[in-house]
Amino acid sequence: MSQEASKEKLELLVNGKLPWEEIKKLLRMTHKQTSRFWQYLDIMQAKVSWKEKILLPLTDHLYIVRKDDGARVVKCDCGHEFGDYRINWKFGCDIYVRKTREEFAEVYTIEPCPIDPDLVEIREYYCPSCAALLAVENVPPGYPPLFDMLPDLDTFYREWLGRPLEDESLDWYQDKTADLLSRWSSEAQA
Ligand SMILES: [Zn+2]
Repeated sequence: MSQEASKEKLELLVNGKLPWEEIKKLLRMTHKQTSRFWQYLDIMQAKVSWKEKILLPLTDHLYIVRKDDGARVVKCDCGHEFGDYRINWKFGCDIYVRKTREEFAEVYTIEPCPIDPDLVEIREYYCPSCAALLAVENVPPGYPPLFDMLPDLDTFYREWLGRPLEDESLDWYQDKTADLLSRWSSEAQA
């Protein structure tokens, strides 16, 4: 059997149309080529309507892309941009918070709902442009939004893919969310 995963097969996989037997064959492959990542990016790039280069898919709808001015931003497949990928994109979302058992019951079918509203709230994060549900988190009330993934893109491209990004720099890999919050705070006081 061939050890190559064809781009056609990957395309079916990405679109949820690859039969389970074929998925199992892919999972069993001992040699997983890095070319598969480039094929995956090609497929993703062909699915979106905008032209910015995708550096890494983050979720079903979100991607880190490089803009013409060199910025690396989080972008929704609808085209909405959330800004610098080092700032938690959840701060740019429309957020719906469920705080009561009645609100929990709208999304949990288990009776009675096992989640205690004194301990947990359910937050749903939506794209402000296309209203896609981007993430859900169950956290204690008042807990800061979880930063699900801040990837070290330069290390990933250099060490794992063997193809360093041309704008590689040590400055990239840092959480900038606090900068946004201090900007909001000073704006609120102005
Ligand atoms: Zn969107």
